[in-house]
Amino acid sequence: MKSTEIRRKFLDFFKDKEHHIASSASLVPIDPTMLLTGAGMVQFKPIFLGKTKVDYTRAASCQKCVRTTDIDVIGQTGRHLSFFEMLGNFSFGDYYKREATEWAWRVLTEEFRIEKDRLWVTIFETDDEAGDLWRDKVGVSSDRIVKLGEADNFWSAGPTGPCGPCSEILFDQGEEFSCGKPSCAPGCDCDRYLEIWNLVFMQYNRDSDGELHPLPNKSIDTGMG
Ligand SMILES: [Zn+2]
Repeated sequence: MKSTEIRRKFLDFFKDKEHHIASSASLVPIDPTMLLTGAGMVQFKPIFLGKTKVDYTRAASCQKCVRTTDIDVIGQTGRHLSFFEMLGNFSFGDYYKREATEWAWRVLTEEFRIEKDRLWVTIFETDDEAGDLWRDKVGVSSDRIVKLGEADNFWSAGPTGPCGPCSEILFDQGEEFSCGKPSCAPGCDCDRYLEIWNLVFMQYNRDSDGELHPLPNKSIDTGMG
């Protein structure tokens, strides 16, 4: 499948689910806390924070991104990039975890036809709600749902701003990509279990003192590589 088809299938899927399709925003954001656009959610940040009102509550985009936070590992792994395009769907106080998990699974397994038995799911260690949804509503078997801590499964765009627990979907590239350690499993630092999509359940705003405040509305922010 070509990258053009991947973009098209993704955006068509979410357009069909009544999402506003937004163009990729400038790499230089209108946000004094960021130097470069590093995620699809950046252009929607004022909406998540309740500072800007728009006439839609769902959006999807294919955003050009530049990332520098992990620049020291670029070139050393098969999965870190400085420039890339991020596919994402967003809910601004509209749908939440249930739709986000179900739709992500459908996009991967039905639109992109990725074999289910190569997919794994990670959740934040205390987020039983997400675990239950993956198991009971989406149908992922319990042994494919892995709980990880804050470093892996709590997302924020920077030291301040919207954030929340997240759930990642990983693609098992196969044993030949493994570091070979007996402990190699989802969450390992090697390339075997490749994170292809992160679903962020955005529910807090972190202030400059590091305190978490509930957002006006629980929202969804996703990013797929
Ligand atoms: Zn490994």
